[in-house]
Amino acid sequence: MSTPKKIALITGANKGLGLEISRQLGKLGMVILIGARDKKRGQAAVDTLKAEGIDAHSIIIDVTHEPSVDRAAEFIDQEYERLDVLVNNAGVMENPSLTASTTPHDILRDVFETNFFGAISVTQAMLPLLRKSEAGRIVNISSSLGSLTMAADPASPYVDNKVFDYDASKAALNSFTIHLAYELRGTPIKVNSACPGWIKTDLGGANAPGTVETGADTPIWLATLPANGPSGGFFNSRQTVPW
Ligand code: NAP
Repeated sequence: MSTPKKIALITGANKGLGLEISRQLGKLGMVILIGARDKKRGQAAVDTLKAEGIDAHSIIIDVTHEPSVDRAAEFIDQEYERLDVLVNNAGVMENPSLTASTTPHDILRDVFETNFFGAISVTQAMLPLLRKSEAGRIVNISSSLGSLTMAADPASPYVDNKVFDYDASKAALNSFTIHLAYELRGTPIKVNSACPGWIKTDLGGANAPGTVETGADTPIWLATLPANGPSGGFFNSRQTVPW
């Protein structure tokens, strides 16, 4: 079914920032594909957004399970024939008290499976559909904790806020942003990393100062960039973050 409306896929969209990014893109008139690994949680999010007048649909994606990613790409191809926006939002943080010297390899691998390999699997599967869009936009939800420059800077506000597995996975995700944007230069597709800020969600915790509404602002900006907008950048509050 070809539609003039933009088609947006958001992974990990059943709650937190993913749900709010979905809501705000939906309010802009896009068809929203709620990527969720659990069918019931995905459907609950769809029901919430539909009640707000948003054209939302559930699509099962566990970003660590390639068959589910491939099935999702086939479904989008059959239903919509293209994809305009991909937000790689699904993410996890394990025990934040673990350090570079104490993080067990299995935890490190688990975090990378979702935050790094998962985003790459979904992007690679969706890229043929994004290439069919007139203005494909890929937004990788990263974190300022993945900034190597800030992590190494004694004057950085985050210098004492280190979670090795998470920070390393987001630094690696940022590398993917840089490499993919370079590869896709000369195409209409833009690829950027977004830090939402420290946001009150299950992952961010109750003490976080930001709301999901403010956290969604930079991802929405990057998902709707005009043709002369940036690609291959890293942004928080619409401002460049050092890599
Ligand atoms: P959240 O409320 O915990 O939401 C995380 C989402 O990711 C959930 O929908 C979760 O699904 C999903 N998810 C986890 N593993 C998945 C998998 N294997 N396949 C598919 N979905 C999966 O966290 P959030 O704060 O909204 O985080 C969203 C993104 O923002 C993450 O990438 C995070 O690193 C980033 N971020 C957050 C903050 C912050 O302060 N909150 C700051 C910087 C960056 P389930 O419900 O099924 O678990």
